[in-house]
Amino acid sequence: MADSSLNPYLRAQQSFREAVDILGLEAAVFDLLKQPMRFFEVAVPVVRDDGSLEVFTGYRSQHNDALGPTKGGLRFHPNVDADEVRALSMWMTVKCALLRLPYGGGKGGVRCDVDQLSEAEIERLSREYIRAISLVIGPDKDIPAPDVSTNPQIMAWMVDEYSRIRGENTFGLITGKPLVIGGSRGRVEATGRGLVFATRQLALALGIDFSKSVVAVQGFGNVGSVAAEICHHLGATVVAVSDKDGGLYNSGGIDMGQLMEYKKTHRTLAGFSGAEPISNQDLLELPVDVLFPAALENQITADNAKNIRARIVGEGANGPTTPEADAILFEQGVMVVPDVLGNAGGVTVSYFEWVQNQTRLYWSESEVNRRLEEYMVDAMSAMHEMHERFGVTLRKAAYLVAVERVAQAMRVRGWLR
Ligand code: GLU
Repeated sequence: MADSSLNPYLRAQQSFREAVDILGLEAAVFDLLKQPMRFFEVAVPVVRDDGSLEVFTGYRSQHNDALGPTKGGLRFHPNVDADEVRALSMWMTVKCALLRLPYGGGKGGVRCDVDQLSEAEIERLSREYIRAISLVIGPDKDIPAPDVSTNPQIMAWMVDEYSRIRGENTFGLITGKPLVIGGSRGRVEATGRGLVFATRQLALALGIDFSKSVVAVQGFGNVGSVAAEICHHLGATVVAVSDKDGGLYNSGGIDMGQLMEYKKTHRTLAGFSGAEPISNQDLLELPVDVLFPAALENQITADNAKNIRARIVGEGANGPTTPEADAILFEQGVMVVPDVLGNAGGVTVSYFEWVQNQTRLYWSESEVNRRLEEYMVDAMSAMHEMHERFGVTLRKAAYLVAVERVAQAMRVRGWLR
């Protein structure tokens, strides 16, 4: 049998199977969830700057739309393949159902290396990809968003192309757009902010005063830097942060204001004078209350899990903890806010963006943040309840909440017998 830990699609299937079994649901629920309802592979022809034509391969997976239109990001990356996209769309089903968003899970991407493409080529690729999938997406069908190596500018080209095809402005097609064409306030910071809201809620349940906690953050991109800043703002002591060049440590706390300034001008954390250097690996093993892995996958593994001294691990990255490490942390009593909740702030504010597009009424940033907190707190309590009811990790509990909700929707819609 294939090693399921290596193939994301098999891993996602295994998680769904486990949830269906624990909930005691009929086999048909798993049979409907083990694969996307619809999966598209498309040829994306792009005229290169030298006049030649290159045909890229793109995908869009619509896993399950029982709860509403499918929703999820688009990535441009050399590793994009059919199984990865299928798995990512299944994880989006879990995120959307757990957060009670009226969506199913979707995901897409194009296999390409953006570093090898000019900006004009990326624009043509974005437009051609949208042409290729234009029949199967739409504000009430399937709503894309940014993901790895895609950004608001790319979303703008895509919504423009779709609007031209349709002959009408369709801002609700896609989320993560620039503010000026229907983006939402707070969308860029949403993932990091949501991560802190969810983690703070868990801390509360565990009797840890978040405002007095000691925090380490691995990764200083869009998620890690925002999370670190908000923790600091809430009164927590951020003792360590890192980016791909290495980390910084100061047992008395790092001045986040100064650090943000430094990062802006130097584009790296390396060389900042307000802290000592520390390796990315050592940062993970610091004696802190809260550790946020917000960089890459597979950072906490069977090799280092027993050295983790944090009380809470808040996953900002996708898959930073391997399944083996997850089991070790659970035995050690380390609580993990799983990625499906930890980084779901992004899709939650994407939902708010879509609501604003559909209603044409735009919210203030504080309105967005207030609602985001409500959604994160609600999802955390549903997950925590399942965790206590079945004695499973929070990650498994997240699947239980999601699968129960999707199964309920499929049942009332008459998809089950
Ligand atoms: N790509 C992000 C995710 O995986 C955001 C998806 C969205 O906003 O729809 O959650």
